[in-house]
Amino acid sequence: MYKISKTRYCKGIQCPKMLWLDEHKPELAENVLNETVMANGNKVGELARGYFGDYALVSLNDDKKAMTDETQRYMDEGRDNIAEASFTYDGLYCAVDILHRDGEGWDIVEVKSSTKVAAIYIDDMAFQYYVLTKHGVNVKKIYNLHIDTEYVRKGELDLKGLLKLEDCSNAVKDKFNEIEKNVEYIRTYMEASEEPDKDIGCYCENPYMCAYYKYCRRHLPEHSVFDIARMKTEKKYELYHGGIVSYQDIANNPKKVSKNQMLQVKSVLNNECDKYDAAEIQKFLATLSYPIYHLDFETFQMAVPEFDDCRPYQQIPFQYSLHIEHKDGSLEHREFLAKEGQDPRRELAESLVGDIPAGACSLAYNMKFEKSVLKNLAEIFPDLSGRLMDIHDNMRDLMLPFQKRDYYSAAMNGSYSIKYVLPALWPGDPELDYHNLDGVHNGMEASAAFASMTEHTPDEIAAIRANLLKYCGLDTYAMVKVLWKLRSVCPSTNSPTKP
Ligand code: SF4
Repeated sequence: MYKISKTRYCKGIQCPKMLWLDEHKPELAENVLNETVMANGNKVGELARGYFGDYALVSLNDDKKAMTDETQRYMDEGRDNIAEASFTYDGLYCAVDILHRDGEGWDIVEVKSSTKVAAIYIDDMAFQYYVLTKHGVNVKKIYNLHIDTEYVRKGELDLKGLLKLEDCSNAVKDKFNEIEKNVEYIRTYMEASEEPDKDIGCYCENPYMCAYYKYCRRHLPEHSVFDIARMKTEKKYELYHGGIVSYQDIANNPKKVSKNQMLQVKSVLNNECDKYDAAEIQKFLATLSYPIYHLDFETFQMAVPEFDDCRPYQQIPFQYSLHIEHKDGSLEHREFLAKEGQDPRRELAESLVGDIPAGACSLAYNMKFEKSVLKNLAEIFPDLSGRLMDIHDNMRDLMLPFQKRDYYSAAMNGSYSIKYVLPALWPGDPELDYHNLDGVHNGMEASAAFASMTEHTPDEIAAIRANLLKYCGLDTYAMVKVLWKLRSVCPSTNSPTKP
């Protein structure tokens, strides 16, 4: 009989074919796990065990019987809190994050590093409630214990403030009768000898990105409805299931998409050259003044704030790169990278206001993010607030001409993210190719690298720091090149046009 844990049950709820592939073709799975999310999850899970006070921890063991026996022993001994409390019933197995004594019965407490209760957590808890009830445990309440984003750390960590206990008993108990049917369905699916013929759907990316996402899409053409920019996922699947799959299908059904989406499709189908509106680009360029301070921050987030005046998941800036572009085309580079293991914000803010003079024109790509970082810094450092808000107020957004489609290239594939814009403007330029970098190739890798630095040796730290500096430096150099390209299509401009 196919054995089902709570993880497998939740996967089966999302799409049972995932479980079948896990069992029969695991080599096709891609790594879709986010290391930072996992590290945050583990940290919150371990801390939360102490939420109700002292606890007994059931030792991890491949032998589930040993784990259930240990759990029973703790229950019989009169322990009030048992972490990883394990139970089995009819081939089903679950470990409860915290089993908390409640009078004559017990409460199930499921710990999550998220900030709210997602629908899949209710299924997860319902599975646990079913297994425990069938096992003979008197379950009274079922809670979800998750992060409270209102919490601001001041001194010692306050677990009761960081974590929020949400009673999910009614929603969970309502699902009790579904479990048996779902388990039966999953088992039938798993026992199939042939790969199940299940088409793709929203469930491929919700609630979790499936590891077989690419494998199950191998039948799609090179350009498909799933590449259309700024279209809701639900709509993409709706068109796909309605037979509108390729760009040609979309071109044949113009009423199904917006004007900009059709522009994306036509530019690819007709292999169109870059299009631009020089007058509009000129207007944007006229909003800039020299020297231009091309700025980019790198940040990281912690579920459990380690510093004072810090909320869970707040973006903490730890690095910036600044390319200063003068009117004669010359470039200067400044940068800051915090020391690992300490609050980087004060030092970073002081360095930044030292590098950017009052009233200077700064430029960011998608400035919403840089502005929010500056605003947060200004709030916690009132003495630097005026200077930080001056940078904030004098910032311009390099994304604007692409967002407004004043410059559009088929290679941007409908997107105005720098990830698409840069290679579209400078195709094949090796100095702008992030693949050529070592270790850190994107913002997510930069955050993970910085957050984990304290776990490394001095030599490894030196290598990580070098990688981070190269990565962030390329971000602002890329902005310089993007701006040069914009100037190059405005012949009237008397600003530098060449790298
Ligand atoms: S990609 Fe979609 S269809 Fe394929 S296994 Fe995953 S969820 Fe199921």
